[in-house]
Amino acid sequence: MSHATNIILSLLFLFGISCSKKIESVFNSRKLKNTQLTNAIIKDTLVVDSQYIKDSDSLSLQYLGCGGFYIKYKSESVLIDPYFTYHPLLSVPFKKLTSNKNDIEYGLEDVFSSTKPSSILISHSHYDHLFDTPYIVNHYFKDIKIYGSTSTKNILSTVVDTSNVIDVSQKFASESNHLNADDQWIYVNDKMRILFIQSGHGPHFRLLFTFHFHKGQGHKIKGYTNPSLESKANKWKEGDTYSFLIDFIDKDPNTGHIIINERLFIQSSPSYPSLGYPPKEILDERKVDTAIIGGASFNYIKGEEYPYKIIKYLDAKTLVICHWEDFFRPYQEQPKRFVRLTNFKKLFYELQKEHQFYLLNIKGQYKIL
Ligand SMILES: [Zn+2]
Repeated sequence: MSHATNIILSLLFLFGISCSKKIESVFNSRKLKNTQLTNAIIKDTLVVDSQYIKDSDSLSLQYLGCGGFYIKYKSESVLIDPYFTYHPLLSVPFKKLTSNKNDIEYGLEDVFSSTKPSSILISHSHYDHLFDTPYIVNHYFKDIKIYGSTSTKNILSTVVDTSNVIDVSQKFASESNHLNADDQWIYVNDKMRILFIQSGHGPHFRLLFTFHFHKGQGHKIKGYTNPSLESKANKWKEGDTYSFLIDFIDKDPNTGHIIINERLFIQSSPSYPSLGYPPKEILDERKVDTAIIGGASFNYIKGEEYPYKIIKYLDAKTLVICHWEDFFRPYQEQPKRFVRLTNFKKLFYELQKEHQFYLLNIKGQYKIL
């Protein structure tokens, strides 16, 4: 990217700074004032209705920021897109980035004292989804399996043991091509299986033009030979983007059939229908219990179908909105503010007409029986 482009982008981003909104100002806005969302904020979890939050060890969902989650079901757990390091807005296009130990250890605090995750799932290779994974793997979870795109594997290849990185590009399902969906499940172990689903990634914002950063396939990053070293954000190219179904399973001891205890769906980046949709046959067998949907930049998908159409299609029991906070502010700062250039008032106004949903704070937890 040229220097001039960087300057233009930065000016546009400066414009965006003024749009980072407080949680209260959104929920108490005139648009949302007379909806069921008023007074929705409670302690660490922002909810429409708290009836589902129960203190239990069966399923626990902890939001880590951006598309990041720590999900635990009984003795099995998984990390999704773990990214913690604070990089100020204007440093991202100009400066090289490095992982920050304090932010990572703050973010993973509860993970360290809980079940060690068996795997990390990566939705796409942008820095706000992948950047801290090498540091996390090398410092805390050496033998963990990482599942992601070819780009993810390429980018990680200079800094982690590639025998632990599984390229899912031959193993994904899609809404329109799912004849062999049964073969496309990845059995991480006998307690968890994952279905990677071909998805898309909308633009980051639109002013006169559409801005979609760091597209294309990711490659090895020159000179990036250990995860404590610096690299530029534009080297972390998007690659293919996936949504996932995660099934926590058991095997029937008599028949050998798979029993699905909990089914989660995650799509952290906006996309055009029907990219990212799980095959209908799979949902016919078992509905999604918890659907996690990314909010950032939702309004730049033309046609205003995202995320309402996929939410309707999934018809999950519980809906969680992620990628909502302004990650260009310090990771450990509270209270959080909404990510700029995304119209959350509109999103929440539309959603509350038909759905209850959760907005977990950073490290906020949601547990069900
Ligand atoms: Zn992205």
